[in-house]
Amino acid sequence: MFDNLKIIHYPDPRLKQPSAPVAEFNENLRQLVARMFELMRQAKGVGLAAPQVAQNIRLFILNATGQPEDDRVYVNPFLSEAEGDEEAEEGCLSIPGLSVNVSRSKHLRIQAHDLQGNPIDQKASGYLARIWQHEFDHLNGTLLTDRMGPVAKLANRRLLRELEEKYASEHPASPPKKPPLKDKRAKSR
Ligand SMILES: [Zn+2]
Repeated sequence: MFDNLKIIHYPDPRLKQPSAPVAEFNENLRQLVARMFELMRQAKGVGLAAPQVAQNIRLFILNATGQPEDDRVYVNPFLSEAEGDEEAEEGCLSIPGLSVNVSRSKHLRIQAHDLQGNPIDQKASGYLARIWQHEFDHLNGTLLTDRMGPVAKLANRRLLRELEEKYASEHPASPPKKPPLKDKRAKSR
């Protein structure tokens, strides 16, 4: 059923949509998650959020070690008790080739449900907490491009431009919209 699912790339507008909570823990959801793990492994990623496969629901998966027993599923996650700040390099399967420094909370608590609907309540620091925050961002339509400072934006201008052109050539019916001139004028006032 989800065989045709694939990872969508920047600037696909579906990546910018906030996702809706998961209402049912059913076979559909299990099949979706199984396919997401397949795609994440193929792409050699450590995390993947449902909107990255064009499913706008609040769910992400991760595997921080590459060991099968470390597969994790978080449904309807909630992050709290953020403490400290730490900067480190991040990439994103939806923005191939991009690698930027992002500041994230160092310590974090996550509350969510697993694939069976059982409650999850965990705390983590460092790398795992960083993956939670990156994937959680996806559920709110926030991408690394939104977390980049002006220097990183300038440094990666060409890469992002190339991705935009690739997307436009693959989606000729719906080119990315540019803001009308009127808006631009209003903004600069
Ligand atoms: Zn990502």
